[in-house]
Order: sequence, then C-alpha cells, then structure tokens
Amino acid sequence: MKAVQLIEHGAPGKLELRDIPNPQAHPDEAVVRVRACGLNRLDLWTEEGALPIKLQLPRTPGCEIAGEILSIGENVSGWRIGDRVAVQSNLFCGECEFCLRGRESICIKGEILGVNRDGGFAEQTAVPARSLIRLPDSISFETSAALTLAGSTAMHMLTNRAKVRSGDWVLVIGDASGVGSAAIQIAKGLGAYVISTGSTEAKRELAKSLGADWVVDSNGNWATEVRKITGKRGVDLVVEHVGGNVLLQAFDCLARGGTVVTCGATAGRNVELKLWPLFVKEQSLVGSYGRNREDIEATLEWIERGKLRAVVDKVFPLAETADAFALLRNRAVKGKVIVTP
Ligand SMILES: [Zn+2]
Repeated sequence: MKAVQLIEHGAPGKLELRDIPNPQAHPDEAVVRVRACGLNRLDLWTEEGALPIKLQLPRTPGCEIAGEILSIGENVSGWRIGDRVAVQSNLFCGECEFCLRGRESICIKGEILGVNRDGGFAEQTAVPARSLIRLPDSISFETSAALTLAGSTAMHMLTNRAKVRSGDWVLVIGDASGVGSAAIQIAKGLGAYVISTGSTEAKRELAKSLGADWVVDSNGNWATEVRKITGKRGVDLVVEHVGGNVLLQAFDCLARGGTVVTCGATAGRNVELKLWPLFVKEQSLVGSYGRNREDIEATLEWIERGKLRAVVDKVFPLAETADAFALLRNRAVKGKVIVTP
C-alpha cells in the first residue's frame, strides 16, 4: 500500500510517498481503509519534532481518520468488514482509573495516533478496535475527517471541561482554525452570545457565517474591544488554544467568575499569570486535552442534526500530502485541510 512517511524532522520536514507492506490487525485491532484524514497542527509539530514525545522515524502522521473496516483481529467483536468508522485519535488503554471513569483524555497510557504509531496519511492503517466509532451513513468521510478531532476537541472544552450555559458570553480565539470554527458553532448551539477573534477580514466573515455575533481583529487590541462589546463586564468563557501572551490577554477580558479553557500553547508554553485578580474575581484556568468517546459521539450527533458543519478549505490527494502540510503551515487556511488517500 501507499503511505506518506516522515523521514526527517524539519519545517518543512522530509515527507515521502512510499510503497510499504499492508498493515496487519493484531488480535485487538482493526485495519481501516482510510478514505479521508484531516490535517492538524499536531501533525506540524510531529513534522517539526516539536512534541515532548520521542518519535521513531519513519512515521506516517495523520490522526483524524475516517474510512471503512478492511479486516479485524480475532478478539474483536461488534464490527464487520465494510463498516464505516471514525477513529478516536487519542488512544487509550480502557483499563486505568481514568478510562474506567470515561476520562480517556487523561488515560495514564494514552498515546496519539500518527505520533506514537502510524496514522492516516496512508491507504490503510491498523488501530485498536476500542478506538473505532461508528460513522453514520449521512456523514461523509471528508466531513468526519474535518470534525472528529477538531470538533470533538471543541466539544470537550465547551461541554465537559467548561460548561457553557444559555445566555453566557463566550469568546473564541482563532475563529478560522479547526477548533475555533467548531467552537463558535457549539457555543451558539448552546445558546451563548459569541465573540470571536480573526486575523483577516475573510476569516472574520467566515466566523460570522458560522454564527459569531461579534468579530474582532486579533491583530488589534482585541481584549479592549471585547470589554467594549460586553459593556465592560467581560466574557464568561474564553476558548483558547494559542497560549503565551494571548492567554494572558484572555484574562484581561474575562468577567468575574469567568473561565479560560485552553487546549494549546503554540505561541508560548510559559506565562506569568497575575494571581491576585484570579482569586479576587474567582476566575478559573482550565486545561483541556483531547477528548472522550462521548465527545466524539456528541460531535457526530450535532453534525447529523445539522447543528455543526465542517469548514473545509482544501482537499488533497495522498501524493500531495506535503503540499497540504505547507498550506497549513503558512496559516492562510480557513477551516480544515483534508487528505483523501
Ligand atoms: Zn487508560
């Protein structure tokens, strides 16, 4: 089968389309014929070698996989060849204390598909059967590959780690990103007033079309803008995935009792937080990592009910995966970049 392998780290790294042996399903695994795989910032970190995880090269990246089951291991039940599936990218053991409580996002033995083992920029990939999720016929492979990771990350942030209530003010940072574009729609669907930040007019227009009530320019003094929009009150929740100075500014427009929920630190992993206003205003900073199975199921349900739509910027064939990486790296992307092997 054909697979895109990362041979050497870098920005860009060395990605090669190669012929390699078909993967075989171990007893608890299934082999999936990949029909679409979404590209995420995580893949860029893999490419650059920027993850705090030791990576074995060559590695096939790609973690947002949709496809059909090609073969199943001898211990696997409940699945048939040909079933349409999405794959939970944060691999979990199913046995540790956190998995047993449904908190697969913080599994002690957690691994990432496309990082710790080969992922979806390939015609086929083997995955643990416990990571399979049934993909309804009404949802296309491309839609699934655009939302099962990014959308469920947002779902986890807005309904699990923080809980958006109707009438809340929610600020979404980075409106055109995969997580941002889903977070706007989910916050709206939950009855919130939504403000989002975007770096270009086109991205801000996209945010409006997804339901954002107000959009602000992320290049300007957006925290001041947000305070103005909310009549100095500030927002109840900031959905943040950038880190660094952006995280600190998020506190500048946070209401009393408000929460900043964060799932990333592209712009900086260390910040100096002002603790005095944090406790005086009873604010919270909440970490969010990946998702649980229930977040993916909720995401698929929202898609089926027409409440969540995929925003796809461009679809690439497998042979042009390196171009897909380059497109995401130059940050001119509106929504998701998808590869269809
Ligand atoms: Zn576990």
